[in-house]
Amino acid sequence: MSRYRESVCRICRRENLKLYFKGDRCYSDKCAYDRRSYPPGQHGQRRGGKISDYGLQLREKQKVKRMYGLSEKQFRLFFERADRGKGVTGTSLLVMLERRLDNVVYRLGLANSRSQARQLVKHNHFFVNGRKVNIPSYQVDAGDVIELREKSKNVEVITEAMEAVIRRSMPQWLELDKEGMKGSIKALPVRDDITMPIQEHQIVEFYSK
Ligand code: SF4
Repeated sequence: MSRYRESVCRICRRENLKLYFKGDRCYSDKCAYDRRSYPPGQHGQRRGGKISDYGLQLREKQKVKRMYGLSEKQFRLFFERADRGKGVTGTSLLVMLERRLDNVVYRLGLANSRSQARQLVKHNHFFVNGRKVNIPSYQVDAGDVIELREKSKNVEVITEAMEAVIRRSMPQWLELDKEGMKGSIKALPVRDDITMPIQEHQIVEFYSK
């Protein structure tokens, strides 16, 4: 997978939204978006004017894709799966993205960002229902229990993330047992649980061309 190698703060500025890629820093006065909330680049401060329908659709797709840290190919596959399903495509897409194991680890506060969560999952730090799972895209289900491997309970980035979780709100579909360093899926997320400003119909339009 090709990796984004520029400053991730530029993505927040490009998408005009705080996307919380940098853990604690995002909540501090060092946040680049809070300091310069105009698009990056030489002409960032001058940019404006009317954006085309296609431009709006593209920006929305890019925003959500980058929020979850996916490549174009991975994102497209998620979209196609959502489109084949029975539900409303846009909603199904967002719910599937939320159900990714790396996202759940991040949402539970066991990692400071989704990219950190992905690394931790890949490096075998978590069990799902007592079985090792190292696939970031693994789809969690209602009733699943996500647990840290015993050896990983002292990993510094995880303990630091758990200290910082208080800054974020815990989605109501998840429950964290801080003492036991494990989380459970109380219910599958629904559209209203996804509170970031996302216009998923723009993404559906983008791929419907
Ligand atoms: Fe985005 Fe601010 Fe976090 Fe940088 S520090 S990733 S600009 S929210």
